[in-house]
Amino acid sequence: MTQNLLITGASQILTLRGKTPRRGASLSNLEIEKDGAILIRNGQIAAVGRRSRIEARADARRVEKLDAGGRVVLPGFVDPHTHLIHAASRAEEYELKIQGASYEEIARTGGGILNSVKKLRSATSAALKARACAALEEFSSSGTTTIEAKSGYGLDVTNELRILQLQRELAKEQPIEIVSTFLGAHVVPLEFRGKPGGAERYVDLLLEQMLPQVVNEGLAEFCDVFCDRGAFTRRQTWRILNEGKLHGLTPRVHAEQLSRTGATQLGVELGAASCDHLEQVNASDIQSLAKSRTVATLLPACDYHLGWKQYAPARKLIDAGAIVALATDYNPGTSPTVSMPMILSLACTQLRMTPAEAIAAATINAAYALRRDHKVGSIEPGKQADLAVFEVEDYREIPYYFGIQRCWMTMKSGEIIYMRD
Ligand SMILES: [Zn+2]
Repeated sequence: MTQNLLITGASQILTLRGKTPRRGASLSNLEIEKDGAILIRNGQIAAVGRRSRIEARADARRVEKLDAGGRVVLPGFVDPHTHLIHAASRAEEYELKIQGASYEEIARTGGGILNSVKKLRSATSAALKARACAALEEFSSSGTTTIEAKSGYGLDVTNELRILQLQRELAKEQPIEIVSTFLGAHVVPLEFRGKPGGAERYVDLLLEQMLPQVVNEGLAEFCDVFCDRGAFTRRQTWRILNEGKLHGLTPRVHAEQLSRTGATQLGVELGAASCDHLEQVNASDIQSLAKSRTVATLLPACDYHLGWKQYAPARKLIDAGAIVALATDYNPGTSPTVSMPMILSLACTQLRMTPAEAIAAATINAAYALRRDHKVGSIEPGKQADLAVFEVEDYREIPYYFGIQRCWMTMKSGEIIYMRD
């Protein structure tokens, strides 16, 4: 049920209104209303601005009212990189990593992504869905209202399609908006490994069988490839993303995480919506991103969880003029978190982004990374009434607190989908 509602009493409304995407100095511009109000009609923002002006509107008189009680209201978070559907945690690998095994060593012995593939293939759809539903509830209780979600733990025709079909079901059955990405090229599955030309034969299978079915059933908007040491080469990445693009899927790339492969420049050349990770980018990659419409999506929780010291050079990217977004990279191997507030804390302390920059990167620029900045990511007339209300007086306290839950209310298209107590 969609509500008509007048929200007043916020200590700050971070509207994020204005030009998208945000680059350079404009990333800090949150466009804050101090004595403000938000009028919601039919699930959309009808008006936002000074309280006296909004309350004087004829259409604001007879609607239900909500007092934000001195809290901070901001656009619901947009999480532009998740691996939502998976069967189980990889806590056993977490322990091995702490004891000194590297992520790549674990991957070479059948752990890592292949471990999750094995578990997913033997899991029932009901179990996968139940796990994803629980995560989606946690997303909403952390203030997130839109997520991107990737396949990539199936790696055969049946299971890659099954993941995307489950995402479509979930998108209809619960309130969080799910934007689907086909990531059949996550890694080469076990059955194609250790044989000459195995990786190429898997790419053939992906292009000849998976991709056409994904497109025919309308199961994804984006196509992604993990282009890295131990995953796919630059040439294979080009083949897949280019073919996806010919079928109408916009490219995205897992780029420069473990090693520098040149995936970023490839992504920019192909007009990718985003290049994600970017721990190993060099100066020319930063320049390419700065001159492009490709978003640099940074995933600091992944580095944090793996105990790495090298984070993506956020300051250099922002100062060069690249479009920077933030995401959780929610996945069982390297980033088991759904919390955008935690990502903001990491962005501030580890990436040296300011609280304002981090919030803009997790809302309006993240919406741009999903090519949805015309619908979500800011509080502006005509956009969906997607809001998060935090139990703080000043927006800087959102990243300042960490490891505790400060989200008070989450709203999707005018409907309250989470409220504390
Ligand atoms: Zn990822």
